Amino acid sequence: MAPSKQPSFNSVIIVGAGPSGLLLALCLATLDPRPEITILDAAETLNRAPRATHYGTPAIKLFRKVGILAEMRRDGYMPRDVCWRKLDCTRITGLSWDTVGKDLDSDAMTVYPVGDLAHLLERELRSRADVKIRWGCKVSGIKSGLDADDETATVEFEEGGESKQCTADYVVGTDGGNSTIRRLVFGKRNFPGHSWEEQIVATNTEIDLDQFGFEDSNFIIHPVHFYMAARIKPDLDPKKNVWRISYGELPGLSTEELMERLPMKFEQILPGSPKPDEYCVLNKSPYRVHQRCVDSMRINRVMLAADAAHLCNPFGGMGLTGGIADISALFQCLEGMHKGLVDDSILSTWSDVQRKKWHEIIDPISSSNIRRLFAQDPDKALEQDGFLQMLKRSEENADLQKELHKAGDQLLHDYTQYFQKSGTVDKQANVANGGESAGLDEVAS
Ligand SMILES: Cc1cc2nc3c(=O)[nH]c(=O)nc-3n(C[C@H](O)[C@H](O)[C@H](O)COP(=O)(O)OP(=O)(O)OC[C@H]3O[C@@H](n4cnc5c(N)ncnc54)[C@H](O)[C@@H]3O)c2cc1C
Repeated sequence: MAPSKQPSFNSVIIVGAGPSGLLLALCLATLDPRPEITILDAAETLNRAPRATHYGTPAIKLFRKVGILAEMRRDGYMPRDVCWRKLDCTRITGLSWDTVGKDLDSDAMTVYPVGDLAHLLERELRSRADVKIRWGCKVSGIKSGLDADDETATVEFEEGGESKQCTADYVVGTDGGNSTIRRLVFGKRNFPGHSWEEQIVATNTEIDLDQFGFEDSNFIIHPVHFYMAARIKPDLDPKKNVWRISYGELPGLSTEELMERLPMKFEQILPGSPKPDEYCVLNKSPYRVHQRCVDSMRINRVMLAADAAHLCNPFGGMGLTGGIADISALFQCLEGMHKGLVDDSILSTWSDVQRKKWHEIIDPISSSNIRRLFAQDPDKALEQDGFLQMLKRSEENADLQKELHKAGDQLLHDYTQYFQKSGTVDKQANVANGGESAGLDEVAS
């Protein structure tokens, strides 16, 4: 196809103002001419629950591309180390970030709470592009866009008690794990995969774990008392450090029961068996965790991305990082379409490639990340667990450490290879989404 002067689309509706929807909006706002961007969200304001904090390479590259990485690194931080331990705190092995750069060119992991990220993205959207989120707009129907011959897509939503409609060239559902868009497209129960029996309680807790020699991220292996303690807000006063402490809980307990058990669990699992007056829980929430992926992320004019399309357990920080890899890739495809370098069949390629990445990388790695914590004897972990053995080897091998840090690049794919060669595509898009694969298959946060 010949590069066209007319953009192939003029408007996009984004359903869901979580981090993935807001990032897509900020990317779309850079296109010239800028398409009309409508963001609908059922909630009244941004979600502040304790969820993502750690982001891997694909996310870091996109944060840099949209110009928010410097602020994230100024207000967040880059961890120095991660390790695996037994419940008595004996260190099994770990990985240091000393071999990677700490400047803005570095793709090293960055810690920044997802609530702050959403806030930053909302602010940038408003100031750079005057795009405002339409809060209190719950999408409840898709009127058109799902059939191959539909020329536009229309969603139905409720706002202030009234039923309304909105039409655009494309709709992107970034409406999270309970996605309405996904249910409308595939039915209520059709989200292939499985849910873990184990429940997870995630907390943000002010506590002094430095006194026990804890590193920036610590994964504790135990059949019952498995947990992760990761520093999410460093402070010069060790008592003021905020840690994400996420631990496994028994199946079948209600939210009230889980919350009542929290002090007892902390006393059982944390070093020094702390009593409630020795820590301050700033935020807490129980989660069921799942490994699921839709059969297609593109149904004609309607796309599903990030949690709306696939879920994984949080150990290893692959959920939103994988979601942002979707967004980065989707934007690369939409940008190519907008510049007339490729037709919209690229969106089906996007769906196929991103799903393959989930099935071949995100699902197996995140599943082994959680199993590593509860499904093995901590005393035999180093003898039996190939990943821990590789980490052990890397302790003496800086090149292997560097390779491990690049493992997240495997989630990237260069979609410009499908574009017509004569056109010019933003080289940044290529950089943000086409890194080399490190050939290693484990990611740790
Ligand atoms: C404990 C925990 C820790 C985690 N840690 C990490 C980590 O360190 N690193 C990482 O990469 N990932 C992590 N994750 C995963 C990460 O938090 C999620 O992948 C991410 O928040 C999903 O973002 P999203 O934008 O796809 O969806 P969401 O943030 O869920 O946003 C969806 C939005 O859609 C809106 N919405 C829903 N239904 C409708 C509707 N019908 N109409 C309109 N709007 C609607 C909602 O109001 C919401 O604002 C973690 C998850 C958990 C639970």
